[in-house]
Amino acid sequence: MIQRRTVGIVGTGNVGSAAAYAIFNQGLASEILLLDKNTHRAEGEAMDLMHGQQLVGRVTCRAVDYPVLGNAQIIVLSAGASQKSSDESRLDLLRRNAEIFREIIIQLDKHAPNAILVVATNPVDVLTYICQALSSRPGRRIIGTGTLLDTARFRALLGRHYGVDPRSVHAYILGEHGDSEVPIWSNATIGGQSIYERTVLGKEWESDTMQSIFEQARNAAYEIIDRKGHTDAAIGVVIARIVQAVLEDQQNVLSVSTRPKGAYGIEDVCLSIPCVVGLEGVEKQIEPTLSDDEEQALRASAQALHDSRSGLQMEL
Ligand code: NAD
Repeated sequence: MIQRRTVGIVGTGNVGSAAAYAIFNQGLASEILLLDKNTHRAEGEAMDLMHGQQLVGRVTCRAVDYPVLGNAQIIVLSAGASQKSSDESRLDLLRRNAEIFREIIIQLDKHAPNAILVVATNPVDVLTYICQALSSRPGRRIIGTGTLLDTARFRALLGRHYGVDPRSVHAYILGEHGDSEVPIWSNATIGGQSIYERTVLGKEWESDTMQSIFEQARNAAYEIIDRKGHTDAAIGVVIARIVQAVLEDQQNVLSVSTRPKGAYGIEDVCLSIPCVVGLEGVEKQIEPTLSDDEEQALRASAQALHDSRSGLQMEL
């Protein structure tokens, strides 16, 4: 039987609306269900999208309540508070968003227990862990957007530096989506050629330049928030990418947030490692060989996430 492809979005602020727009515009779903505690906002977004139907094709968009989300195969969680200013770290948002997520998970476990969940709200790694701990669905069916956005930014900057399409750059940022994230230089390649400490496409390896490229990727959110007040376009596309990987069972390798099963000795947190994403969510985890420094930095990132969750003192 041919199934409708139904995507739900909980939280239709900047990020949820950008995700809805990307999914709508790329024709990834036949139906997009929008839910926000501000029902007017969700209704407005649905109406606005529907007016593009004539140009994009028949995708139904409507504002709904939780029982209707039972029709969705995949649900994006982008509800919550956004960073108030560049001074507020992602981890400062935790307390405000953890309680919102507890309420949402209760509703989704009741009405949509079989849907895959994609967590985008920050701090995304800790909230992914909280969702996995609170929800009755298997952990692999709850995916955090993690460092997929940071990796995209990193590849875009490296592509510009080397003068190639970012899709031809293979390089990851792993760990926390945030200040302790780790650039994996030891495995970064273009056309199968390692770039680490080598001259590639006429560009010599310069440590300061490469560190600056990583820092631009890591600090991009702060820079964008300083200028336009929030980030939405790129995270919208990132969410659409994960939705597509799941709905089309693409088995893509994506750096998304999940709970490692002992990779690098890390267990009791969610963070980003390369994962195979398909119909069942995170179907496999990959543990690439890292340099000693990278492995140490990844474990430090895990510890930072562990500490911030402990600070929350939430019963899980
Ligand atoms: P926003 O304030 O524009 O939107 C949040 C929406 O959530 C609002 O419409 C609000 O009404 C809704 N909401 C709040 N509580 C709710 C509840 N209990 N049920 C349903 N809806 C509820 O914020 P934003 O700019 O869209 O950002 C959303 C989140 O995404 C933030 O945490 C932000 O930091 C995060 N974000 C993550 C990434 C990433 O890479 N993962 C990138 C950008 C932003």
